[in-house]
Amino acid sequence: MPDLLDNDIQYMQGVGPKRAELLNNELNIKTFGDLLFYFPYKYIDRTKFYRINEIRSNLPYIQVRGQIISLQSIGARHKKRLVAEFTDGTGTIELVWFQGVNWIKDTLKPGVDYIAFGKPSKYGLKINLIHPDLEEASKYEAQLSSSLQAYYSTTEKLKKSYVTSRTIQKLITNLFKNFKIEVRETLPEYLMNKLRLLALNESLRQIHFPTSPDLLSKAQFRLKFEELFYIQLNILKQKFTRENYIDGFVFHKVGDYFNRFYSNKLPFELTGAQKRVIKEIRKDLGSGKQMNRLLQGDVGSGKTLVALMAMLIAMDNEFQACLMAPTEILAMQHYTTITEMTEGLDINVKLLTGSSRKSERDIIHEELTGGTLHILIGTHALIEETVQFNNLGLVIIDEQHRFGVAQRAKLWKKNVQPPHVLVMTATPIPRTLAMTLYGDLDVSVINELPPGRKPIKTIHFTDSKRLRVHGFMKQQITEGRQIFIVYPLIQESEKMDYKDLEDGYFSIKQAFPSPQYAVSIVHGKLKTEDKDFEMERFRSGKTHIMVATTVIEVGVDIPNASVMIIESAERFGLSQLHQLRGRVGRGADQSYCILMTSNRLTDEAKQRIKTMVDTNDGFEIAEVDLKLRGPGDIEGTQQSGMPFELKIANLGRDGQILQYARDTVMDILEDDPLLDDAKNNILKQQLKKLVKGGFNWSEIS
Ligand code: ADP
Ligand code: MG
Repeated sequence: MPDLLDNDIQYMQGVGPKRAELLNNELNIKTFGDLLFYFPYKYIDRTKFYRINEIRSNLPYIQVRGQIISLQSIGARHKKRLVAEFTDGTGTIELVWFQGVNWIKDTLKPGVDYIAFGKPSKYGLKINLIHPDLEEASKYEAQLSSSLQAYYSTTEKLKKSYVTSRTIQKLITNLFKNFKIEVRETLPEYLMNKLRLLALNESLRQIHFPTSPDLLSKAQFRLKFEELFYIQLNILKQKFTRENYIDGFVFHKVGDYFNRFYSNKLPFELTGAQKRVIKEIRKDLGSGKQMNRLLQGDVGSGKTLVALMAMLIAMDNEFQACLMAPTEILAMQHYTTITEMTEGLDINVKLLTGSSRKSERDIIHEELTGGTLHILIGTHALIEETVQFNNLGLVIIDEQHRFGVAQRAKLWKKNVQPPHVLVMTATPIPRTLAMTLYGDLDVSVINELPPGRKPIKTIHFTDSKRLRVHGFMKQQITEGRQIFIVYPLIQESEKMDYKDLEDGYFSIKQAFPSPQYAVSIVHGKLKTEDKDFEMERFRSGKTHIMVATTVIEVGVDIPNASVMIIESAERFGLSQLHQLRGRVGRGADQSYCILMTSNRLTDEAKQRIKTMVDTNDGFEIAEVDLKLRGPGDIEGTQQSGMPFELKIANLGRDGQILQYARDTVMDILEDDPLLDDAKNNILKQQLKKLVKGGFNWSEIS
């Protein structure tokens, strides 16, 4: 039977090719089915009416019932607007239209009861409703099937073509009324009964046309649960399969490389957390199963050392290891640290990045395939086809949030048998997001900083306090400290941003004149050599201040830098602010993070700044970030391979449902890992369908 849900949306009455294209481009609605699964973002109780004399302009929306008492078009041709005076007997408001003036004017009937709905705004002394929803009261009441009216988000482009929330609702009404749409159940009966879930058909009807708040919340629960359930089923089924059917290299011993490093080279005592994590990794490596572990640890918690020790174990078992970092600066830094730390241990470490010369590359390729290269450190360049190992046993990926899941997968395909994989991230990921993005990985957490670190003090200043900040900087420099000043660079190509940076640099040079002070500048437009040169000058203490863009965001380690000044801090996301702050506080001195902002901040920006001032805890910050922005916007998630958009569940709010879905999936898979049982047939079919439909964002095979 051809599925009605697969019908092209353009063939629906009231759509046509032009609107279809818009719906497709703007909302990704191509078929009847897509429309059915386009869910409202809010509901408004439309049985509630305001009296006009109660209306305040700060209400999010209002609904009033009344009549039009006068109607006027004002202004010249293209600036024409239509203003209707509207009263309910307690007062008057103005309904205002800027578009379709003539047409709307002709349809309005004085003396008839209308329901007007919209967002109130204040214009002079009058309350206005701009482009209100307006309907004759008699018609409105006849059609009202539910007191809770669904609202659908649209875009400016859609609104210009008169596709509003209302239009979408009409189309969906059409689906139910004229097409009598029915969908097949997508969860097995035993689960539905056990979890007391509302049927899919009923849930879809309720989500669009709720008949009561209670049924609406049951419908929401069912749909959210299902959405999260299948993501977990996909990810955990792969994890189960991998663990049960794919062999991992067995690193059975800890040998000379590890032991010599541990007793002779280790410059400090490991923290308890580092010890625990190394044990966890060691256990994985010896288990015979392929390791897939996520190592989370706040900036400065000492992940590099853990990475190195894991690589030494690989070498003790005659395997090669590689470490991939998201930027050249970072790769270079890892290279320097690791060569220094392993000096005298006869370990061949090389660096491969986009700017490695051909001659160096040739040597690296030869040593890699010959097996004489032990550790390869680099950037994305490591993923290239031409990079072939002799026996790659361990892959370490630093700062995962910059890499896509697909890239991760490419690395493990460098061997017939997949190498062990350790993914390290300094961006604390809220639990819910981790379960979704990295639900196939085991997780280790370094929840302890090396001893002697003082918590960073974070202070917020507005631009008017700049002189005070300069004074403070001078005092810090006198005490021998160094300072970062970071400017936002949202898009590397934006001229505006560079202007901010250059102006900033210029005024800093004036306030901190040479020869008394030396200032470095680093940004993405510089050539690699120049960047490295400037970084090196700063690292070695030749310059006091480093003016930079976010290129220094990740991982850069300069213990003597104790002040991080973030300009236009309101333009940064929370996780980025936290990352930047983590650049200081690495030495024993008291460190400071100064957030500079303008005077006028949005509520959300205020909350971001306040969170930064209040806490140093990366996980807490990540949770706030998720709540404020939603997972789609969380720093790095787009790049990090969350190519599906959740239609209804929200990782910031639906953590409990997610946990419930994950537990349910675990129970099912423990019983029936391949979903071969007849009762799980629906699950197998539906998963296949979702995976085919592109939900297969994880390429782990
Ligand atoms: P991360 O990558 O987790 O942000 P790093 O590995 O760069 O952190 O470590 C930060 C700094 O702390 C480095 O200078 C490192 O040498 C130092 N460090 C790491 N582990 C310890 C430890 N156990 N005791 C003291 N210092 C440590
Ligand atoms: Mg690091």
